[in-house]
Amino acid sequence: MQGTLEGFVLKRKVSFDGEGASNANTSNKVPKSNSTPSMLKKIDINNLPWDPADRKNILDYDPNQRDEIRRIYLQRGPTQPRGHLFPIKKIASKDRRFVITWFDEYHWLEYSEKVDKAYCLWCYLFRDQVGRQRGSDAFVTDGFCNWNKKERFAVHEGDINSFHNRAHKNVKIS
Ligand SMILES: [Zn+2]
Repeated sequence: MQGTLEGFVLKRKVSFDGEGASNANTSNKVPKSNSTPSMLKKIDINNLPWDPADRKNILDYDPNQRDEIRRIYLQRGPTQPRGHLFPIKKIASKDRRFVITWFDEYHWLEYSEKVDKAYCLWCYLFRDQVGRQRGSDAFVTDGFCNWNKKERFAVHEGDINSFHNRAHKNVKIS
Protein backbone atom coordinates (compact mmCIF):
# COMPACT_ATOMS: atom_id res chain seq x y z
CA MET A 1 0.00 0.00 0.00
CA GLN A 2 1.58 3.22 -1.12
CA GLY A 3 0.72 6.54 0.43
CA THR A 4 0.08 8.11 -2.92
CA LEU A 5 -2.89 5.89 -3.46
CA GLU A 6 -4.77 7.70 -0.76
CA GLY A 7 -3.99 11.12 -2.13
CA PHE A 8 -6.98 11.48 -4.37
CA VAL A 9 -9.38 14.32 -4.07
CA LEU A 10 -12.46 12.26 -4.62
CA LYS A 11 -14.61 12.10 -1.54
CA ARG A 12 -18.34 11.84 -1.28
CA LYS A 13 -18.58 15.57 -1.79
CA VAL A 14 -15.84 16.92 -3.97
CA SER A 15 -15.14 20.59 -4.21
CA PHE A 16 -13.68 21.59 -7.49
CA ASP A 17 -12.54 25.18 -7.19
CA GLY A 18 -15.78 26.18 -5.55
CA GLU A 19 -17.71 25.19 -8.56
CA GLY A 20 -20.84 25.01 -6.49
CA ALA A 21 -23.43 22.46 -5.66
CA SER A 22 -23.79 19.59 -8.03
CA ASN A 23 -27.37 20.42 -8.83
CA ALA A 24 -26.79 24.08 -9.48
CA ASN A 25 -27.34 24.64 -13.13
CA THR A 26 -28.13 28.30 -13.13
CA SER A 27 -24.74 29.91 -13.62
CA ASN A 28 -23.22 26.97 -15.34
CA LYS A 29 -20.73 28.29 -17.80
CA VAL A 30 -19.67 25.72 -20.28
CA PRO A 31 -16.54 26.85 -22.03
CA LYS A 32 -17.55 27.57 -25.56
CA SER A 33 -15.04 26.97 -28.25
CA ASN A 34 -16.06 28.79 -31.36
CA SER A 35 -13.32 27.28 -33.40
CA THR A 36 -14.38 23.70 -32.84
CA PRO A 37 -15.65 21.94 -35.91
CA SER A 38 -17.63 19.75 -33.51
CA MET A 39 -18.38 16.67 -35.49
CA LEU A 40 -19.78 15.18 -32.34
CA LYS A 41 -23.09 16.33 -31.06
CA LYS A 42 -22.89 18.52 -28.00
CA ILE A 43 -24.80 17.00 -25.17
CA ASP A 44 -26.59 18.54 -22.25
CA ILE A 45 -24.10 18.06 -19.46
CA ASN A 46 -26.80 18.61 -16.89
CA ASN A 47 -28.49 15.44 -18.01
CA LEU A 48 -25.67 12.94 -17.94
CA PRO A 49 -26.97 9.45 -17.18
CA TRP A 50 -26.58 8.15 -13.64
CA ASP A 51 -26.80 4.47 -14.36
CA PRO A 52 -23.40 3.20 -15.56
CA ALA A 53 -25.12 1.01 -18.13
CA ASP A 54 -26.59 4.08 -19.78
CA ARG A 55 -23.30 5.87 -20.24
CA LYS A 56 -21.60 6.05 -23.54
CA ASN A 57 -17.89 5.79 -24.02
CA ILE A 58 -16.15 8.93 -22.81
CA LEU A 59 -14.39 8.99 -26.17
CA ASP A 60 -17.71 9.47 -27.89
CA TYR A 61 -18.18 12.81 -26.23
CA ASP A 62 -16.91 15.98 -27.78
CA PRO A 63 -13.28 16.40 -26.66
CA ASN A 64 -14.12 19.90 -25.52
CA GLN A 65 -16.75 18.60 -23.17
CA ARG A 66 -14.90 15.67 -21.65
CA ASP A 67 -13.25 17.59 -18.82
CA GLU A 68 -16.56 19.10 -17.82
CA ILE A 69 -18.20 15.69 -17.96
CA ARG A 70 -15.45 14.20 -15.81
CA ARG A 71 -15.85 17.00 -13.30
CA ILE A 72 -19.57 16.39 -13.02
CA TYR A 73 -19.16 12.66 -12.53
CA LEU A 74 -16.47 13.16 -9.91
CA GLN A 75 -18.67 15.60 -8.07
CA ARG A 76 -21.48 13.11 -8.10
CA GLY A 77 -19.20 10.32 -7.01
CA PRO A 78 -19.70 6.71 -8.05
CA THR A 79 -23.26 5.55 -8.56
CA GLN A 80 -23.82 3.46 -5.45
CA PRO A 81 -27.54 2.78 -5.01
CA ARG A 82 -27.47 1.64 -1.41
CA GLY A 83 -31.22 1.42 -1.12
CA HIS A 84 -31.47 -1.00 -4.00
CA LEU A 85 -32.74 -4.52 -3.49
CA PHE A 86 -29.92 -6.38 -5.17
CA PRO A 87 -31.34 -9.32 -7.08
CA ILE A 88 -30.26 -12.85 -6.31
CA LYS A 89 -29.03 -15.08 -9.06
CA LYS A 90 -27.71 -18.59 -9.11
CA ILE A 91 -24.00 -18.89 -9.75
CA ALA A 92 -22.56 -22.38 -9.61
CA SER A 93 -25.78 -23.52 -7.93
CA LYS A 94 -25.48 -21.00 -5.10
CA ASP A 95 -27.54 -17.89 -4.49
CA ARG A 96 -25.39 -14.83 -5.04
CA ARG A 97 -25.89 -11.13 -5.26
CA PHE A 98 -24.07 -7.85 -5.03
CA VAL A 99 -23.06 -7.07 -1.45
CA ILE A 100 -23.63 -3.51 -0.32
CA THR A 101 -20.49 -3.29 1.85
CA TRP A 102 -18.39 -3.65 -1.29
CA PHE A 103 -19.19 0.01 -1.85
CA ASP A 104 -17.30 0.82 1.34
CA GLU A 105 -14.33 -1.28 0.41
CA TYR A 106 -13.96 -0.02 -3.13
CA HIS A 107 -14.62 3.66 -3.59
CA TRP A 108 -14.48 3.47 -7.35
CA LEU A 109 -17.16 0.82 -7.48
CA GLU A 110 -20.40 1.57 -9.25
CA TYR A 111 -23.49 -0.52 -9.65
CA SER A 112 -26.05 -0.49 -12.43
CA GLU A 113 -29.59 -1.23 -11.31
CA LYS A 114 -30.60 -1.65 -14.92
CA VAL A 115 -28.32 -4.55 -15.72
CA ASP A 116 -27.25 -5.79 -12.25
CA LYS A 117 -23.57 -5.26 -12.97
CA ALA A 118 -20.63 -3.45 -11.40
CA TYR A 119 -18.33 -0.89 -13.02
CA CYS A 120 -15.35 1.32 -12.21
CA LEU A 121 -15.97 5.06 -12.33
CA TRP A 122 -12.33 6.07 -12.56
CA CYS A 123 -11.49 3.77 -15.42
CA TYR A 124 -14.64 4.92 -17.20
CA LEU A 125 -13.68 8.57 -16.91
CA PHE A 126 -10.00 8.35 -17.71
CA ARG A 127 -9.65 5.42 -20.03
CA ASP A 128 -8.68 7.74 -22.87
CA GLN A 129 -5.79 9.14 -20.84
CA VAL A 130 -4.19 5.93 -19.70
CA GLY A 131 -4.27 3.86 -22.83
CA ARG A 132 -6.12 0.69 -23.53
CA GLN A 133 -4.00 -1.81 -21.72
CA ARG A 134 -6.85 -3.07 -19.59
CA GLY A 135 -9.59 -1.79 -21.81
CA SER A 136 -11.22 -5.17 -22.01
CA ASP A 137 -11.61 -5.37 -18.27
CA ALA A 138 -15.20 -6.16 -17.35
CA PHE A 139 -15.36 -3.23 -14.93
CA VAL A 140 -14.66 -0.86 -17.77
CA THR A 141 -16.52 -2.36 -20.66
CA ASP A 142 -19.28 -4.91 -20.24
CA GLY A 143 -19.82 -4.72 -16.52
CA PHE A 144 -18.92 -7.27 -13.88
CA CYS A 145 -21.46 -9.63 -12.36
CA ASN A 146 -19.59 -12.66 -11.06
CA TRP A 147 -20.66 -12.05 -7.50
CA ASN A 148 -18.93 -15.24 -6.39
CA LYS A 149 -15.58 -13.79 -7.42
CA LYS A 150 -15.13 -10.81 -5.20
CA GLU A 151 -11.37 -11.16 -5.53
CA ARG A 152 -11.75 -9.72 -9.00
CA PHE A 153 -12.16 -6.28 -7.44
CA ALA A 154 -8.61 -6.42 -6.13
CA VAL A 155 -7.44 -7.85 -9.43
CA HIS A 156 -9.03 -4.93 -11.19
CA GLU A 157 -7.17 -2.47 -8.97
CA GLY A 158 -3.95 -4.29 -9.71
CA ASP A 159 -0.56 -2.99 -8.82
CA ILE A 160 0.53 0.61 -8.63
CA ASN A 161 1.12 0.83 -12.36
CA SER A 162 -2.11 -0.80 -13.34
CA PHE A 163 -4.55 0.78 -15.75
CA HIS A 164 -6.86 1.40 -12.82
CA ASN A 165 -4.26 3.11 -10.67
CA ARG A 166 -3.09 5.26 -13.53
CA ALA A 167 -6.69 6.29 -14.06
CA HIS A 168 -6.90 6.93 -10.34
CA LYS A 169 -4.03 9.43 -10.56
CA ASN A 170 -6.14 11.45 -12.94
CA VAL A 171 -8.90 11.81 -10.41
CA LYS A 172 -7.08 14.72 -8.82
CA ILE A 173 -6.89 16.68 -12.03
CA SER A 174 -10.20 18.12 -12.95
ZN1 LIG B 1 -10.76 0.94 -12.39
